Amino acid sequence: MQRRHVLKMGALAGGLGAITERERQAQAQVARATRGTPSPKIKDVQVIAMQIPASRPAAIARPGSVRLSVVKIITDQDGLYGYGCSTFTQRGELVNAAIEKYLKPFLIGKPTDRIDDLWQACYNSSYWRNGPVLNNAISGVDEALWDIKGRQAGMPVYQLLGGKCREAADTYVHITGPDIPAVLEDAHRMMEQGYHNLLLNPTYAQGVGGLHEGGSGTGTLGTSSVFQSAIFARTALKWLEQLRTQLGDEIGLMCDIHERLTPNEAVQLAKDAEKLKLFFLEDLLSPEDLAYFRQIRQQCATPIAMGELFNSPHEWTPLISERLIDYMRMHVSQMGGLTAARKVAALGEITGVKTAWHGPPDTSPVGHMAQVHMDLACYNFGIQEFTFYADLTKELFKGCPEVKNGYMYANDAPGWGMEVDEKLAAKYPYGSLEEGERKQLNGGWGELRRRDGSVIKQ
Ligand SMILES: [Mg+2]
Repeated sequence: MQRRHVLKMGALAGGLGAITERERQAQAQVARATRGTPSPKIKDVQVIAMQIPASRPAAIARPGSVRLSVVKIITDQDGLYGYGCSTFTQRGELVNAAIEKYLKPFLIGKPTDRIDDLWQACYNSSYWRNGPVLNNAISGVDEALWDIKGRQAGMPVYQLLGGKCREAADTYVHITGPDIPAVLEDAHRMMEQGYHNLLLNPTYAQGVGGLHEGGSGTGTLGTSSVFQSAIFARTALKWLEQLRTQLGDEIGLMCDIHERLTPNEAVQLAKDAEKLKLFFLEDLLSPEDLAYFRQIRQQCATPIAMGELFNSPHEWTPLISERLIDYMRMHVSQMGGLTAARKVAALGEITGVKTAWHGPPDTSPVGHMAQVHMDLACYNFGIQEFTFYADLTKELFKGCPEVKNGYMYANDAPGWGMEVDEKLAAKYPYGSLEEGERKQLNGGWGELRRRDGSVIKQ
């Protein structure tokens, strides 16, 4: 095949008389690198939509189950295809339509081996861009193209990114509970399994700030769900103090604020927590309040991680280039996939900002695997969020990333090294594991309100 392809190119060069000897040699080199196979073309673009159960429902009240979207790109070459994560669990149907109705007809017949070119073409083809629906759709295509390139080369994707900088990715896991004894119990359970970086997640704890029905019992005007940010901030600090005292200095300790404080409360919490030597405070401000990061930087040295709600370079570029955060933790599919993320990671390497990609259950294992490959290959990797897989998830996705002693490993098979059991996935369509409001809202989230009945950011 290789020889035939090279000969064909030589004949073409001779016939046209337009290709120089140098170009002919370059093309022969490409043919050798791709084992003489012609450039694959996109034959079909499919969406695999499914629902998976939450992995730790007892500890984390929400989300109870998650709608996942995975893109499968099939090429015109026998057995050559790839998977990418396009999960936007709260608006899954819209992403799937963006892929099937717009990107699929745009992509059919195009070569799979021009990943950056196709990314730019998809990104610009809508004219208006950088929204969560369109970026997640592009991510599914982008990551599927990287998977195809890896399979074609016979290499895991991290090799295509330059190879490993480290053997495995250090992780952090969530700890939570209705009160501090329960949180400590959860922490010890995680430490016994080898995890040494723990994220306090008070946002999912009943009773913190009166969150969720049956919380503080303070009641409110118009709804039974109440959230009070000042109480939340004080409780989070008290719990962090107890965790540091009880767990010792060796444990990496984080806290997820989920963008729920007022700007002034956020600045105050960062200052108060400075003495605890946290690994980081996560999503301390909402994307609407980014200007306050400068105040936090000026007033304390608490490490700051930010970004899971970001969609756009307009949001992350100033924070990274001005060194206002320590860890970028964007949701990779929300950015537009690996192609977008690796470029921002490179910016972070220059400015001293590390990566801590968002790794919740509402990212598919294919998306997690794309993150691990970047974690291994990017020098400025910081840490990786990990939220466990239910047994069913591991059946749906063969070859999931594995965690040993708190470190996450990619498998070394070509591409992402993963296969999706599509027959099994068909048994778990959207809505199949939901009930109540979540089902009624088609996978969307409901609302949280203050005691006076006004809506809060969640
Ligand atoms: Mg978070």
